[in-house]
Amino acid sequence: MKRRRLGLSTRAIHGEPKARADWTAVAPPLYQSATFTNPVGSSAEVLYTRYGNNPNQVDIGKKLALLEGADAALFLASGMGATALAHLAVLRPGDHLLASEWIYGGVFRLFREEFGKLGIDVSFVNPTQQRTWKRALRKTTRAVFLETPTNPLLRVIDLEPVATVCKAEGLALIVDSTFASPVNFRPLEHGADLVIHSATKYLNGHTDVIAGAVAGTDQVVDEVRRLMQVWGQAIDPFAAWLIDRGMRTLTVRVRRQNEIGLAVAEWCAKQDGISKVHYPGLPSHPDHELAKRTLGGFGGMLGIELKGGVRGAERFLKGLTIAAHAPSLGGVETLVSEPRLTSHASLTAEQRAQAGIPDGFLRFSLGLEDPDDLIADFAQALARH
Ligand SMILES: *Cc1c(COP(=O)(O)O)cnc(C)c1O
Repeated sequence: MKRRRLGLSTRAIHGEPKARADWTAVAPPLYQSATFTNPVGSSAEVLYTRYGNNPNQVDIGKKLALLEGADAALFLASGMGATALAHLAVLRPGDHLLASEWIYGGVFRLFREEFGKLGIDVSFVNPTQQRTWKRALRKTTRAVFLETPTNPLLRVIDLEPVATVCKAEGLALIVDSTFASPVNFRPLEHGADLVIHSATKYLNGHTDVIAGAVAGTDQVVDEVRRLMQVWGQAIDPFAAWLIDRGMRTLTVRVRRQNEIGLAVAEWCAKQDGISKVHYPGLPSHPDHELAKRTLGGFGGMLGIELKGGVRGAERFLKGLTIAAHAPSLGGVETLVSEPRLTSHASLTAEQRAQAGIPDGFLRFSLGLEDPDDLIADFAQALARH
């Protein structure tokens, strides 16, 4: 008999449910140990936390694989570590990587400043223009990398046409799915070969851990693990334990953030002091139809453009009492940041405006506060702005 497939929440809580022995802890024990005893005379791989085979590390990898529908998954010490090693697992000197130009600033720097030194050429394309992907391919192209939804405009990229090109050309399609989390989007179901997360964000969800993850085939994840063992980005057991705890509430958190995101975005769209709202759940968003078709929810990330530019944005930010002015995202508390000072600081004001991110732009990561309170706080801060 074929086993019934468990729902996302059950998988997020239990991974694969197992029979429990009597008198055992219901919460998983924390193995805060660098090393483990191993049998005398055995040639099996030793248990050692840098190898990623500590039980706390192993359990969260299995859980994420079940959530993404992957053969395997592996957690690492940061999202950047996961991104670097995922690419090194598939690229060799002489290879070309084709990347979206709308990606996390740290990843952009990794590609621009470091990959060249390793003999890996990287070029960038506008991810929303389907034809440019194919045109930008070279004979040496080995992999394609993109992020969806994008930061901070929350554009949703249609993965299927890109995946079709990658399949036809034998390229690895690597997708950073941090903003969506497996609750709202599972790239492997849409033709991606490898998924990356900054687990610092929604997977953990409590703003108290730095971690990353990679999910895909056994073969690629094994290669990332091999690189991790020698480059040294294993996740600490306590961080792994906290992520396991955070993932238990992943589906309720993200589904609630989807509701709060829509409520706050719809309110913002009606305010005179806000000139533009970027949220894929609004019919005015350029990818609304695609988002409805492909995402499980529109998420808790929201971009707004305030009238009054930088000054107006500063007054509004100083007036807010709930949102913390801090980078990062995906936690239970609302955060707000200014792309002009964070992700897009290396561009001039004109370049930012051209990229659709004028200087009054604010990016919110909505938390799990009562949406009425968030809206009331926005309202009083807008009245001062
Ligand atoms: C934060 C982030 C990263 C980097 O993750 P760290 O855990 O901070 O190393 C990569 N990609 C995206 C989309 C992110 O938001």
